[in-house]
Amino acid sequence: MHAELLIHAEWILTVDPENRQLTDHAIAIADGRIQAILPYAEARRTIQAEQTVELPGHVLIPGLVNAHTHAAMSLLRGLADDLPLMTWLHEHIWPTEGRWVDASFVADGTRLAVLEMLRGGVTCYNDMYFHPEVTAQVTAEAGMRAVIGMIVVDFPTGYAASSDEYIAKGLALHERYRDHPLIRVAWAPHAPYSVSDEPLQRVATLADELGVPIHIHLHETRDEVENAVNAHGERPFARLDRLGLIGPSLASVHMTQLEDAEIARLAETGASVVHCPESNLKLASGFCPVARLLEAGVNVALGTDGAASNNDLNLLGEMRTAALLGKGVSGSASAVPATEALRMATINGARALGLDSEIGSIELGKSADLVALDLRDPHTQPLYHPVSQLVYAAGRHQVRQVWIQGQQVIRDGAPTTLHLAEVLSEAQVWGARIGE
Ligand SMILES: [Zn+2]
Repeated sequence: MHAELLIHAEWILTVDPENRQLTDHAIAIADGRIQAILPYAEARRTIQAEQTVELPGHVLIPGLVNAHTHAAMSLLRGLADDLPLMTWLHEHIWPTEGRWVDASFVADGTRLAVLEMLRGGVTCYNDMYFHPEVTAQVTAEAGMRAVIGMIVVDFPTGYAASSDEYIAKGLALHERYRDHPLIRVAWAPHAPYSVSDEPLQRVATLADELGVPIHIHLHETRDEVENAVNAHGERPFARLDRLGLIGPSLASVHMTQLEDAEIARLAETGASVVHCPESNLKLASGFCPVARLLEAGVNVALGTDGAASNNDLNLLGEMRTAALLGKGVSGSASAVPATEALRMATINGARALGLDSEIGSIELGKSADLVALDLRDPHTQPLYHPVSQLVYAAGRHQVRQVWIQGQQVIRDGAPTTLHLAEVLSEAQVWGARIGE
């Protein structure tokens, strides 16, 4: 059998339905897809590969999926910390965005975020921000995979003047990336408190017609829910359900306030929850009941949120925090085990984005979106269980090789599609301007 690339890793965590862990196996890749997974001794006999990559001491995993971020906000990292959500948004983030966010801000901020994510083993991200056509272009140029949000809010910004214009621009973006191998789109109404009923209803209808996901912040804080109940007598979840948004295409982000009936409704409709533990901790937003959601059979993915509320786009760190917080919140040390945290950061994220037949696990026929981490480091030795080292001890500097669709985007820790020094100097120019 002929292959373009043969990757031989000491351990492979497949994240397949059985969570198989393979030792001393190889993966053959042709046309950007996983063509064979077999013991290395057999691969040497049967596969003629154009290139072979040897990874002793490395664990190979599916590319990580960051299921919620605002990539361009990387330029606002560290601008306003240690503040509650509404003060942070109204007094700092929104005024700064109003003054500075334009197409070039989004291009430079997205490039910084993409570089950070690739170097941390993230191969796909789900974005929500203004000027999504710029985000899509920068991401595609870097050879990264993303689901780009067709953002909708009620208020005017430099990007669009009305919810009608946001939706029209979203439809144009959908048309433009219809058959793109790396870029997909999703409707991204910002939140129940920033989008009114009529555009939300249109989004529900259009998501159905176009077969794309809906990505929305929901029940982020207790205040959000209480304010809605006081003003309209209805919880935001109930309102979205009434408007037709709760269903299998929904990726609802945060969900720190959940009643049993809402958890049951999520499970029954096949909706996904995107858990952002570090953003919730930093903004003191509350705790998503992850163990209860998983127990009910709800698909739970992981996101970093934007770099202004995290402050990094580190999904390895997010896995660890999710595993630790899940135990603390549920009072059970066996809640959110390492294997489950890895599933949340890979296959569950893919499922939340409607991409689970394409990415999220190492299985035959799937896209070769792969990440190799070198575990030969003092803090990941000795090695009893690779998944434990990965979730509870590994750091991003151990991500050495990253492939997306079989194309190598990180080689020996360095980017192949982006220029590190240029990306850093662009970020520094913005920092000097915004911080003055
Ligand atoms: Zn967010």
